[in-house]
Amino acid sequence: MSQRLLVLGSTGSIGDNVLDVVARNPQACIIHGLTAHHNIEKLYQQCLKFRPALAIVSEPHHAIELQANLQAAGLNTEVQCGTQALCAAACAIDCDTVVAAIVGAAGLPPTLSAAQAGKKILLANKEALVMSGALFMETAANSGATILPVDSEHNAIFQCLHGAQRAPGEVERLILTASGGPFRNRPLQTLDQVSPDEACAHPNWSMGRKISVDSATMMNKGLELIEARWLFDIPAEHIEALIHPQSIIHSMVVYRDQSVLAQLGTPDMRTPIAHALAYPTRIASGVEPLDLAKVAKLTFEEPDLARFPCLALALEVIREGGGMGIVLNAANEVAVEAFLARRIRFTNIAWIIDEVLQKTPGIAVTSFDEVMEVDEQSRRSTYEAVQRLGRSTHYFAS
Ligand code: NDP
Repeated sequence: MSQRLLVLGSTGSIGDNVLDVVARNPQACIIHGLTAHHNIEKLYQQCLKFRPALAIVSEPHHAIELQANLQAAGLNTEVQCGTQALCAAACAIDCDTVVAAIVGAAGLPPTLSAAQAGKKILLANKEALVMSGALFMETAANSGATILPVDSEHNAIFQCLHGAQRAPGEVERLILTASGGPFRNRPLQTLDQVSPDEACAHPNWSMGRKISVDSATMMNKGLELIEARWLFDIPAEHIEALIHPQSIIHSMVVYRDQSVLAQLGTPDMRTPIAHALAYPTRIASGVEPLDLAKVAKLTFEEPDLARFPCLALALEVIREGGGMGIVLNAANEVAVEAFLARRIRFTNIAWIIDEVLQKTPGIAVTSFDEVMEVDEQSRRSTYEAVQRLGRSTHYFAS
């Protein structure tokens, strides 16, 4: 039977890939709702193609404009706006499956709403688990929500675990692979000169700009280690990152008997999306078949923490536990935004996050309200740190 899908963040890179897989498999899903932040032209085009019952944007004036345009095109799509509308749509009875593909902390409220309502959630927004891992997983367990990972590494691990919770001690280690991003071999002394476009030019994956920068700093892998810790309920010391520049092995599970199970594929997000959409069955993804003879060589190396200080910071946060993931995530979002806006250098990203982490005492959170408070405070501290740095330097002023 077709599942009714709400795609949160449909105008983004994951959103595009989800809609591509849906278009190839019209029998598997019906698009119930689509959402965007500001890109209403793209949302309009998506509405014309998929004719959803609901479209949601962030700003009231965008909602009015989109509603008028859709009506003029003869569509009955209802247009709403704001976070409350996203949360209401994510828990409404007329949607079965929620794709959580809004980037950043903004994705947490509607993803949580879906978890509270016991929905099937295709989770791309790793920030939800980085910010509120234990609380989020407990909420999902209490409501009976199903969480299917879309992040390629977590989807690979999910497949290697056969989707089942394993008996304690059966799984020895999770190995999350990482490409190492565009600066794996770039001379260290030139890293402070890299431009946003260079940082976003990922060698293997085509992604949104924020996650592309996170891949270049390897903060993305740090966030994923935290995500894996909660998603698979495995102690952090049993999860590690390994650089694999070809991005063919998407991650691995090491079992107690030293069997190592890996999931392989052409690097294309449509594979994990198709897997999660159809789970436990399989549907076509449109992904190029993997030609191992052509790939020829698969290589691996330890991540160099001097080159990737953001990964080192994430590892410290994982060791410390508690609510420090919220601080890490908020500081990273603000610092990456400042880098993309050319207000700070690439190498300042780690420096700023470190400063904010150092100034924050150990944090324990017991509710989602507290999560949002810590998030806000951490953002304020990071904006201040960015401003201080901006006053003392004029890096990209042009
Ligand atoms: P993009 O930047 O490409 O897209 C983000 C989407 O979220 C867009 O639809 C955007 O709308 C919307 N959005 C942004 N800010 C807000 C906001 N404040 N309120 C509501 N909607 C908002 O991101 P990606 O698709 O690359 O990534 C999405 C998530 O998936 C991230 O958490 C990322 O870490 C994760 N992920 C992504 C992968 C990838 O391959 N891209 C791989 C694995 C995980 P608009 O277009 O209008 O700005």
